[in-house]
Amino acid sequence: AKQGGKNNVTFYAPEMNAAGTARSSMELGLRGALEGGELRVVYQPLHDLSGQVRGAEALLRWQSAALGNVSPATFIPVAEDTGLIIPIGTFVLNEACRQLAAWREDGRALERISVNVSPAQFVQGDFVDVVRRALQTWRLQGRDLELELTERMILRDVKGVARKMAELRAMGVRLSIDDFGTGNSALNYLMTLPVTTLKVDRTFVQALEDSPGAYRIVQAIVALGHALGLDVVAEGVETPAQLLQVRDLGVERTQGFLLGRPGPPEELNWEGTGEGGK
Ligand code: C2E
Ligand code: CA
Ligand code: CA
Ligand code: CA
Repeated sequence: AKQGGKNNVTFYAPEMNAAGTARSSMELGLRGALEGGELRVVYQPLHDLSGQVRGAEALLRWQSAALGNVSPATFIPVAEDTGLIIPIGTFVLNEACRQLAAWREDGRALERISVNVSPAQFVQGDFVDVVRRALQTWRLQGRDLELELTERMILRDVKGVARKMAELRAMGVRLSIDDFGTGNSALNYLMTLPVTTLKVDRTFVQALEDSPGAYRIVQAIVALGHALGLDVVAEGVETPAQLLQVRDLGVERTQGFLLGRPGPPEELNWEGTGEGGK
């Protein structure tokens, strides 16, 4: 709470307009959200090709007393601009590790938990230590955790990012490129950075049924990923036809509303849904 004081002053600048007002009330709300218990983490399952749940992605939710439910697409950028993403990101990481440990305790055979990481969070000096501590606290191995990074972030500071990625990989932590294909689509980093997973962006998956181009792009991403020894995840699978297509294309994991929506941990559907998600 203390750390934000300085930013507040600069925020109420004379150029404040309607958009600025909305943003400032969001910023104010977000400052109290963590301590006020308004932030929680929901989980969306990742399935293998047989429909078994193999992992889950942690997704942040903000139920604001003042603003109602705010989408992460709206508040994450504010959290990034204000630096609040650092404590919030640490909270998500710890929550996700705690939840994986709790599921394992219940006998659930989950391979790993996936956590989204913002650029500002990844570049903070002690990010690797934050990860190490979270794993230690919940007695997890590095391989139990997958961090989802974006191309945008990697391309911002390839050298610094490379060093941290190497440290994380040495711990066994898996590194996924989220929204693959929508960034600057520079492929050179894939030659040098220790990535383990490509997540095909849902815009491609959702275009599969109508667009032969989308089909060939996903096919090419799968081929590229596999040629590099990476796992490929298809996200945003909403229809049985899309599920059949991405399975045919040979992705390792699928994720999407068809087989499982994000929800509270106690509501995760463990049954899997087998063929076609019926
Ligand atoms: P993302 O990492 O690409 O997460 C996937 C988003 O797609 C989630 O939206 C999820 O609810 C949604 N989704 C999953 N399956 C489907 C589907 O079949 N169809 C459609 N249309 N959507 C699907 P959500 O939870 O609103 O999160 C939006 C974005 O906010 C995330 O995109 C991620 O970039 C960011 N985000 C969420 N939680 C965190 C977090 O803890 N830390 C950071 N840094 N970013 C987060
Ligand atoms: Ca993600
Ligand atoms: Ca994504
Ligand atoms: Ca996204």
